[in-house]
Amino acid sequence: MRRLREAMAEPVNAQARLDKIVVLVASNMVAEVCSVYIMRADSRLELFATEGLAREAVHQTTLKVGEGLVGLIARSAEPLALADAQAHPAYSYKPETGEEIYHSFVGVPFLRGGNTLGVLVVQNRTKRTYTEEEVEVLETIAMLLAEMIASGELQSIARPGTAIAARRAQALIGSPMADGVGLGYVVLHQPRVVITRIIAEDVGSEQVRLDAAIETMRANIDLLIDDESTAGEYREVLETFRLFANDRGWLRRLREAVNTGITAEAAVERVQEDSRARMLRQTDPYMRERLHDLDELANRLLHQLTGQSMVAAPESLPDNAILVARTMGPAALLDYDRRKLRGLVLEEAGPASHIAIVARALGIPTVGEVENITGIVEQGDAIIVDGTTGEVQVRPSSDIEAAYSEKARLRARRQEQYQALRNVPAITKDGVPIGLHMNAGLLVDLPHVEETGAESIGLFRTELQFMIAPQFPRTEKQYLLYKSVMDAVPEKPVTFRTLDIGGDKILPYMTTYEEENPALGWRAIRIGLDRPALLRLQIRAMLRAGAGRELRIMFPMVASVQEFEHASELTRKEVKHLLRHGHELPHNLKLGVMLEVPSLLWQLDELLERVDFVSVGSNDLVQYLTAADRDNRRVAQRFDVLSAPILRALKSITDKGASVGKPIALCGEMGGRPIEAMALVALGYRSLSMSPSSIGPVKAMVLKLEVNDLNKYLCEILALHDGAPSLRDKLLGYAEAKGIPL
Ligand code: PEP
Ligand code: MG
Repeated sequence: MRRLREAMAEPVNAQARLDKIVVLVASNMVAEVCSVYIMRADSRLELFATEGLAREAVHQTTLKVGEGLVGLIARSAEPLALADAQAHPAYSYKPETGEEIYHSFVGVPFLRGGNTLGVLVVQNRTKRTYTEEEVEVLETIAMLLAEMIASGELQSIARPGTAIAARRAQALIGSPMADGVGLGYVVLHQPRVVITRIIAEDVGSEQVRLDAAIETMRANIDLLIDDESTAGEYREVLETFRLFANDRGWLRRLREAVNTGITAEAAVERVQEDSRARMLRQTDPYMRERLHDLDELANRLLHQLTGQSMVAAPESLPDNAILVARTMGPAALLDYDRRKLRGLVLEEAGPASHIAIVARALGIPTVGEVENITGIVEQGDAIIVDGTTGEVQVRPSSDIEAAYSEKARLRARRQEQYQALRNVPAITKDGVPIGLHMNAGLLVDLPHVEETGAESIGLFRTELQFMIAPQFPRTEKQYLLYKSVMDAVPEKPVTFRTLDIGGDKILPYMTTYEEENPALGWRAIRIGLDRPALLRLQIRAMLRAGAGRELRIMFPMVASVQEFEHASELTRKEVKHLLRHGHELPHNLKLGVMLEVPSLLWQLDELLERVDFVSVGSNDLVQYLTAADRDNRRVAQRFDVLSAPILRALKSITDKGASVGKPIALCGEMGGRPIEAMALVALGYRSLSMSPSSIGPVKAMVLKLEVNDLNKYLCEILALHDGAPSLRDKLLGYAEAKGIPL
């Protein structure tokens, strides 16, 4: 080990260092052969160095993953020791290496993020059994080789034109979460611990260090669990951590690893890599989740041992940072300097997650559900994020980079064009004004009203603030938030939606109930009416914030006229309460409902009589009309919103609204997609509320549209009853013929 340490430190080139390592290992193990195979970008294992096999085979012999014993180790990511290698069914003979005279074989993989980077092999002429200790020594050397690869050193000796796998360019695909293209460099939200010492000087003191670190980590976890503000899912995760931190098997593996002569941190990393490799090959989601927990726990221990920080320091963010994390809470993202963030890549979060909502609000191109991204990238790697398509390019080649730079430039140019439309009124070619409003939910959204030229905020999702708060926001806090929202749009009325929680929108500090069907469960106004204290406090805060102004309050997920009446009654009580206490009230209070539940379609007469306004929540309305979960990737795209049944349902609402003179708005995602917005305007929608980045594109469409002409065309094709699954192509054809930009 001492001589190995010296070999690692010698100022020689990588090939000389590798050559030296194989000689040392062979002599130390009294073996005739020691070879190093490195995984190339084309998934072949190339012989990079050997002692004992034919020298000419170096950089010439290659094996496929799964081919031969070396390929088998690469695939399984597990060591293999055989006294009679030639008797193994996977044995494969490579004549150029002259290896047929060797009988025994032992090989260990070197791993990073659970992926095999290469294989270290030792062979003996005689049939001999390798001891467990010998395998462990090889595993330590494999760790050194993995470090050499991560440092980029080995790429320099690869054959010209071939890349080694660990540094190869990779195109990954995940779920698009927030639009835009970002080019930059990886910043790991939880930076990987850099281990500088692998080989121990004194095994005894490393055991002591390990034990002390485990003790401190356990105590920290206990403290967090005992802390009263730790709640919900986080508490459950910590409980699991506590279980693992006391798991005998895990602790034994760590101690055994230290006994092989490596430092405590190297031992944790080795055990961690083993479980990562198992995790990548594990198909049972429950087991994967547990292995993930174990990984997280190992990270904590590594940070404990090395004193390195658990999270990137948000204040020292480099320019052009692309944040990469397994998961991340919305509040953590808000800690980073937005001006330096070019993108975000997450392993676990999906498009409907809270972090996605915040990333969209901040305008950070984001891709989620990218498998093992934290294991694939290294701090500082070049990376590109396309939040529109879900593509992530890791260590891109220069032509890929050029293509994306061009894409980003084009996008920026288009944004400039939209910017130029900022103060242009959204009026169709035939003179119909269309209200383009903005959806918002956080303070960071507010500047977008100015930037985009949105008429006002057509939907303020109040639950977002609740979701990122550590505890239930008191009325005063709510009042201050709603007041800032009103102040951000001084001339126009803002439409506040009361708490839309439940379903997947969980408040960490509120008791949750297991529900078979959360989307059809106890959520939104249903909670509000069953727990009126909550709703009343919120309404009170809104009424105070709207003092002297017009205030619009909208109730979500209303399914019956009675629910609206009940909510109005609560509001009236709050008005009285504030009056009694001498507060100033809004000079004009408008109460409305979100039309999201199909049952309302058949009580429109009764409903419109009672409400001041209606805003169609097409995201939920479509989900319930088609019985297709909007967050379930397998079904969400199954039905097109531009299909006859959905368009007819949407038309029936505006038709009814027009006949009784009640304004109907729409605030689902449909309103922000130009072609869908075009159809909506043709169906009679005159007020759309959308995410800020959609205002420009939708306005560009409106300016070129002749509503009356498209209305006629759309009514005709809707009356065809030809059973076509979608009218999208027809509408696209129409827009193209009329020169309407989409
Ligand atoms: C909707 O359902 O269309 C809507 C706008 O509300 P949310 O997306 O917040 O459910
Ligand atoms: Mg909704």
